[in-house]
Amino acid sequence: MLPAAFDYRAPASLNEALAILKQHGDEAKVMAGGQSLIPLLKLRFSRPELVVDIARIPDLNTIKREDADGHFAIGALARHVDIENSKELATAAPMLAEAAHWIADPLVRNRGTLVGSICHADPAGDWGSVVLAFGADIVATSQSGQRVIHAQEFFQGPFTTALNPDEIVTEVRIPVAKGHSGGAYLKLERRVGDFATVAVAVQVELDGGKIAKAGIGLTAVGDRNIKAADAERHLHGKEPTDAVIAEAARLAAETAEPKDDARGSAAYKKDVVRVFVQRGLKTAVGRAREAR
Ligand SMILES: Cc1cc2nc3c(=O)[nH]c(=O)nc-3n(C[C@H](O)[C@H](O)[C@H](O)COP(=O)(O)OP(=O)(O)OC[C@H]3O[C@@H](n4cnc5c(N)ncnc54)[C@H](O)[C@@H]3O)c2cc1C
Repeated sequence: MLPAAFDYRAPASLNEALAILKQHGDEAKVMAGGQSLIPLLKLRFSRPELVVDIARIPDLNTIKREDADGHFAIGALARHVDIENSKELATAAPMLAEAAHWIADPLVRNRGTLVGSICHADPAGDWGSVVLAFGADIVATSQSGQRVIHAQEFFQGPFTTALNPDEIVTEVRIPVAKGHSGGAYLKLERRVGDFATVAVAVQVELDGGKIAKAGIGLTAVGDRNIKAADAERHLHGKEPTDAVIAEAARLAAETAEPKDDARGSAAYKKDVVRVFVQRGLKTAVGRAREAR
């Protein structure tokens, strides 16, 4: 199918893009890599009057470590493949590269962006769970200035975020771990490159052998990416024994709200969450112990 007719602008600066969005409000749609937007246009699920292509705006494709603020800043145009290949992220936050590798195929990974993925807010999107597990902050910029939205508040429902129509997400901030940290991304898919039947993101920080910080995000088991907050609270301050991990995995499965569909029954998906969180936590703790 062909998209409905739309106007196209490709601003050369962020200020110009923000001015266009301010003028056109929700008649305009931002496009980054186009890997979700273009299919939506072609299926006519989305019929914007104007597409604002931000791909030519300089300096948005960066991945920077901001030591003073204690985070990595992943710019709006950093693609999945940039994250997959980043040497600095591979050392400091390897779960990002692990998750990137699970997304689609090399064609999509060469064009699509992390920021575009979270702005699309598909409950089956992989990055949503990753940013929840890291406790990331999302920086939304408009002509009125910048506001920082915590990942947990960003996802508001299927394909719905806390963004206003005149805002562009300019970066996602991933906190740099203070202690020994490790993570894991586990994904069940029907065939290579498919969206998740179920996936989980797990990130832990250890202090003196105990869990100082734990983040767990769940993919494709609810109306949005889900933060398994009860499981995280259960882990906090405890030694990661088998029993503690098993209970956290049970709590995470309770938080999941999957539906029966062609990929499996709700009960099956809940059990996959339990098994993956248990496995992911053991892997993440092992990696944190090895980390220097
Ligand atoms: C064949 C195929 C397989 C796929 N498999 C997977 C998969 O396994 N896992 C997975 O997670 N995803 C998968 N995807 C989806 C894809 O990875 C992402 O959703 C996509 O890369 C989004 O990034 P983008 O830069 O292409 O965003 P776009 O398509 O350009 O935009 C997506 C949405 O985000 C908005 N947007 C983009 N950037 C901004 C910004 N900076 N500020 C505000 N709004 C913005 C747009 O307006 C639009 O609504 C697949 C896609 C395809 C085509």
